[in-house]
Amino acid sequence: MTSTPLELLRKYSVAGPRYTSYPTAPYFHPGFNEADWAEALTAPAPDRGLSLYAHIPFCDSLCHYCGCNMVATQDYSKTQPYLATLDREMARTAALVDSTRVVRQLHWGGGTPTYLNPDDIRRLMAMMRRHFSVAPDAEISCEADPRELTRAHLVALRESGFNRLSFGVQDMDPAVQQAVNRIQSGALIQQVIDWSRELGFSSINLDLIVGLPKQTVESFSRTLDQVTVWAPDRLAVFAYAHVPWMKKHQKLINEADLPDSATRLALQQAVNESLGAAGYVNIGLDHFARPDDELVRAQQNKTLWRNFQGYTTHKDCDILAFGASSISQTADVYMQNEKTLKRYQERVAATGFAVERGLKLTRDDQIQRDAITRVMCDLELDFAAFGHEWGIAFTDYFSDALAELRPLAEDGLVDIGAGKIDVTPTGRLFLRNIGMCFDRYLKEPAGTQPRYSRTA
Ligand code: SF4
Repeated sequence: MTSTPLELLRKYSVAGPRYTSYPTAPYFHPGFNEADWAEALTAPAPDRGLSLYAHIPFCDSLCHYCGCNMVATQDYSKTQPYLATLDREMARTAALVDSTRVVRQLHWGGGTPTYLNPDDIRRLMAMMRRHFSVAPDAEISCEADPRELTRAHLVALRESGFNRLSFGVQDMDPAVQQAVNRIQSGALIQQVIDWSRELGFSSINLDLIVGLPKQTVESFSRTLDQVTVWAPDRLAVFAYAHVPWMKKHQKLINEADLPDSATRLALQQAVNESLGAAGYVNIGLDHFARPDDELVRAQQNKTLWRNFQGYTTHKDCDILAFGASSISQTADVYMQNEKTLKRYQERVAATGFAVERGLKLTRDDQIQRDAITRVMCDLELDFAAFGHEWGIAFTDYFSDALAELRPLAEDGLVDIGAGKIDVTPTGRLFLRNIGMCFDRYLKEPAGTQPRYSRTA
């Protein structure tokens, strides 16, 4: 008998990774040190471009759902030693990286990067350009909080070369905004979008969250209607991850106000229907884009990739990430910086680096990462092509994974053919569960496993 979507959701709502990295961050270890990181930076990588990330951890106030590494403060003076530390960290890094390598992508995240005042926005971007060579056509993006944003901030970003913006909208319903301590009117968001378009930013992304307290299908449908009128180029609709054991401030959320699994499913269906009707393509997991967007084209061309910033078209770039808690990534290494402001600043002052932990991937890690990425990005996996690329007999190497996928095939989430796996339209809601079948680390004994958020 065919399961209903709600039955599937209940069955497959298990704790599991989001696969913005593989192996996942809990497997990064403190044995990975500065010498390892220096070695990774100096390794020749003539065909790989650079993707720079700067983490600005400051926020004016605390949103109760926040899952980011951030510091809520009204004391702007804290930004000054932080910017000086970023400068030093970039100088130490740039000295080790082949100077002919070009930056193809640059992103500021947080916290709230636009916590920085316009002068400091210009200063930080000038700093990054001093240390690295940024391609004239680089994709340069910044996350922005509409609440504290002025036109002067946007002018500073545009004049510094930014061409993409991402605004946190989350939910427009007043009761939900009250419950999560993030009040922002539709007029405010309309204003920042109008300014952005007038200043010539070429792409605007809006972030929404499903699963927030007091959310109903009716209220969120109004948010979706409003959002489609704003007509962003991309939308990211994240599922709220309630992990109060990791993010203590999430205890400020009344769990009784969180939508139940039936409502979460209905919310997800409302998102898919509303954004689909408005002409957006679901890239997978939580990302939507207009049909002519390069993310959609990359998916069609099978060049889409997943990293710590979500879906990206820049598969062949090493990510050099600066700032507290930021995660860098080369072809076979992950490295995470110290998470607290204090430790980050102390470590960089001492050596120029703030390596807290990291991981060098084995060849098996790389093969499994590629398989997980292919199903989550291409929504299909061709056994012969994949086997040829990695020099493996796919069905032998992944015999466990194929066995684990069989029940998912019976539930209609994937089609397993003689030489190929295809994710079905229903399976798109369960990409994390499909990826988990290829994850060898999840086969380790219970009790040694990290704790993840739920997949659905
Ligand atoms: S603005 Fe963003 S980073 Fe800051 S508290 Fe809110 S959700 Fe977290």
